[in-house]
Amino acid sequence: MNIDSITNGVVIDHITAGNAMRLYHLLGIDSFDCSVAIIKNASSKKLGKKDIIKIDGEIIPDIDIIGYVDPGATVNIIKDGKLISKRTIDMPEMLTNVIKCKNPRCITSVEQELDHVFKLTDRAKKVYRCLYCETKADL
Ligand code: ZN
Repeated sequence: MNIDSITNGVVIDHITAGNAMRLYHLLGIDSFDCSVAIIKNASSKKLGKKDIIKIDGEIIPDIDIIGYVDPGATVNIIKDGKLISKRTIDMPEMLTNVIKCKNPRCITSVEQELDHVFKLTDRAKKVYRCLYCETKADL
């Protein structure tokens, strides 16, 4: 694919350099059927260096996951070759089934069918805690 001319797709821009692969895995992009380009260490006026993920397909990635991994990233939605939406992503208040609680005594470790829910408890320090046992999530 020509990475500069996506007709219908998504460009995740302003990713902190080094975060693209983590985002790639958490978003489950490896299971997508469309072309994906990952650009690492692109030069950026704002960040110095940044990563970019370009997805050539009509897929809306999970905004909560992007906000969790990299608040400040921008998501551009491209349709018919035109930029139709550009939004900056913020940290979500709640994360459901993105990360797992590492506390072996947590109810989510025992009850397999329970959702893994984490709540943002400190926005400045980027701290998420398990909704059930309040164990702090690893970032
Ligand atoms: Zn827990």
